[in-house]
Amino acid sequence: MLLINGVWTNAENNRSFESTSPSTGESLGFAADASAGDLDRAISAARSAADSWAQVTPYRRAGLLNAAAENVLAAKDEIGRLMSKEQGKPLRAAINEIGYAADFLTWYSEEAKRIEGTTIPSARADQRFVTVQAPVGVVAAITPWNYPVSMITRKLAPAVAAGCTLVLKPAEATPLCAVAMFEAIQSAGFPDGVINLITVSDPVSVGKAFTTDPRIDKITFTGSTAVGRLLAGEAAKNLKRISMELGGHAPFIVFPDADPVHAAKGASLVKFLNAGQACISPNRIFVHRSIYQPFIETLSARTSALRVGDGLADGVSVGPLVNPAAVGKVQSQVDDAISKGATAVIGGHALQEEEYAAGHFFAPTVLSDVTADMVIYREETFGPVAAVIQFDDDDDIYALANDTHYGLAAYVYTRSISKMYEAMERLRFGIIGINDINPTSAAAPFGGMNNSGLGREGGREGIVEYLETKTVGISVA
Ligand code: ADP
Repeated sequence: MLLINGVWTNAENNRSFESTSPSTGESLGFAADASAGDLDRAISAARSAADSWAQVTPYRRAGLLNAAAENVLAAKDEIGRLMSKEQGKPLRAAINEIGYAADFLTWYSEEAKRIEGTTIPSARADQRFVTVQAPVGVVAAITPWNYPVSMITRKLAPAVAAGCTLVLKPAEATPLCAVAMFEAIQSAGFPDGVINLITVSDPVSVGKAFTTDPRIDKITFTGSTAVGRLLAGEAAKNLKRISMELGGHAPFIVFPDADPVHAAKGASLVKFLNAGQACISPNRIFVHRSIYQPFIETLSARTSALRVGDGLADGVSVGPLVNPAAVGKVQSQVDDAISKGATAVIGGHALQEEEYAAGHFFAPTVLSDVTADMVIYREETFGPVAAVIQFDDDDDIYALANDTHYGLAAYVYTRSISKMYEAMERLRFGIIGINDINPTSAAAPFGGMNNSGLGREGGREGIVEYLETKTVGISVA
């Protein structure tokens, strides 16, 4: 179903598309396949609601966001099971994600009340300046399938808290998760037209409409750099505001003073999270030569102990990839690396036998002796492959780590305070974890440098993306 102007409806032509499990191939149901007319009605609803929503007090907006958070948490088991089926991730990870999704609703309910202006002294004795913050207006949001519920609230919560209205299009691989989230959020009682959901099987026409429709003021996108570049280009022609959260190619640096066993445990936890399908997943693990062996041994032992399978099955910690093309891409990166001298210490192949036959599974893999001429050293993998590279004292590790057009996340293991500061200052990445594999929170800004994106989500900076500053000069003569 689509949510347009407060009403749940089928697509006007009654079209729908199927959602299937990446683990079993089973049908999970159908989502409405919105037409151009449906999209037009959703944009129109958001536009019509924009003025009155902007005038609702932040206290009331906060109350609705809080109620939405409660509804989401109350439905966490149900949405968690659905997410595990539709996206594939282990149930526990799905339920954690719902907690993270609710955090954005709660955090921005609080931040709504702290949208403040300034007063500025004038050079003229008879003049005063004040600034006020106004919502940008109608927001069009496009979200991905890898974190199918938290990426919704990471956009929706600050937009709505700022006084904007929204039309959201989720990924075609996870429409049912989006419907379940919008049901929980809308039942908090948002006025008609404030939040609208459009599910669609072909995103291209929606992207065109979002970037060209004069009723839309801002586009916020999370997905691949290729699609982000396309949308940003179109949006620029029409001078629409944009936020882009795109791909990454995170370095994970283990300095010689670090405990290699502890660092390898961290690497195994963060690398295989979401089967490696995360924009902050480590893609190049640089380990100093002096601790390379114990690091590889621990990482390999932990990787071989990971159980792969259907996210709802007991003990599973690594689920499937999103589709067969993703499996093919991971395999080709692994094959390329092996042909150029890397070794698959563990894994290195798709899983196709027995319980894996109907799904898109890839064995958790550790590649050792990865070098700069390999595709995996340059391209985002989005799969469960830990690519490990040795470095020496003579190498400029920051030059190696920064040698990518991405700049989202980076991880560092060291016990030295000097090294910690050096890493903070020299790594050209928007998010840095130091002896920490989870440097993310609703309260902290998240976003990339270079081709990893524009703008920040989360934290105080996250709401600024949905606000415009108005300067008012006042004559007091
Ligand atoms: P991924 O490779 O991770 O699937 P995509 O960038 O293809 O990333 O998808 C992220 C989101 O972008 C999804 O919601 C998808 O439907 C949407 N999308 C993909 N192509 C386009 C496009 N041309 N215009 C608008 N949205 C798009």
